[in-house]
Amino acid sequence: MNTLKTPVKRATGFIAASLLLFAGMAGLAQAALPDGAAIEAALKKAFTDYRKLEEGANADYIPALAEVDPNVYGIALVTTDGKVYTVGDLKTEVSIQSISKVFTMAKVIEESGPRSIPENMGVDATGQVFNSIVAVEQYKGREMNAMVNPGAITATSMVKGDSYDAIWNSILDYYSDFAGRKLTVQEDIYKSEAATNQRNQAIAMLMHAYGHIEDDPLQANDIYTRQCSVGVNARDLATMAATLANGGKNPVTGKQLVSPKNINEILAVMATAGLYDDSGQWLYKTGLPAKSGVGGGIIAVSPGKFGIAVISPPLDPAGNSVRAQKAIADISNALGGNPYEVVPR
Ligand code: GLN
Repeated sequence: MNTLKTPVKRATGFIAASLLLFAGMAGLAQAALPDGAAIEAALKKAFTDYRKLEEGANADYIPALAEVDPNVYGIALVTTDGKVYTVGDLKTEVSIQSISKVFTMAKVIEESGPRSIPENMGVDATGQVFNSIVAVEQYKGREMNAMVNPGAITATSMVKGDSYDAIWNSILDYYSDFAGRKLTVQEDIYKSEAATNQRNQAIAMLMHAYGHIEDDPLQANDIYTRQCSVGVNARDLATMAATLANGGKNPVTGKQLVSPKNINEILAVMATAGLYDDSGQWLYKTGLPAKSGVGGGIIAVSPGKFGIAVISPPLDPAGNSVRAQKAIADISNALGGNPYEVVPR
């Protein structure tokens, strides 16, 4: 009888030791993502907790944004193994606005290498609002980043293509690949911003004057305005974020869009300046590289785990969606999404 028991015990001991070794190795990284039920519960809780929150106001410096329904509220989380969790409004599209800056920067890095960004506009925080002219003047268009307007318009000017249409189509196709479906422009938003974006035109001209935009700054600004007007829902945005979380490979379609070696730099710039001048406060609370847009969306990336997005148009004074910040922070913290959270060995 004992002869039987001993090998079983040995086998059990071996399995336990292997599991411990595995846990030890996993401890070098982070704890695994909780199961689907826990993810669903975290999304539902954040959705209900902030549904009645009445803080903030729609952006109105672009007239059409003031007309967007402030009650739109949708949350989506896409894991790096391609599972999609959602709650709230997933149909309504808002304009992607500044969240587009991340994906244009990714395109420039893919086309021209990771040095192209720091060598042109820089990768530092400005400490100023996203459309600051003072920030351009301070270092003649250097020592800033691609998440604020001067750097972002410059990044758009660096996208390769022989004509306006060629550049525009390659940007829109690239965004669409991130979302996993064909995206389109919200023409009313584009027209409204194009008619009122004299400040961005001035920024583009200044970046040209300082040698960062090689030619046709107003074309670069117009393409930038168009890229900001692309319509997205919460699921689109979460899939885009999850592609960054998954080493540049869209976890839903399986398409590789950014080389894995180039992801670090993109996430670093998002962490530095994705929520503008409130990026430090955001990082302190969540540890997540993120990006907001004045259309009301925020995306955040938990590297190796998930991408998350919330849409809710009312913004705080820094230009970041109030509900989106709160919901993403709660959900990510409940799921152990903070990449700085490590399990001791
Ligand atoms: N299109 C907007 C602008 O350039 C984007 C700004 C934003 O989302 N913060 O002003």
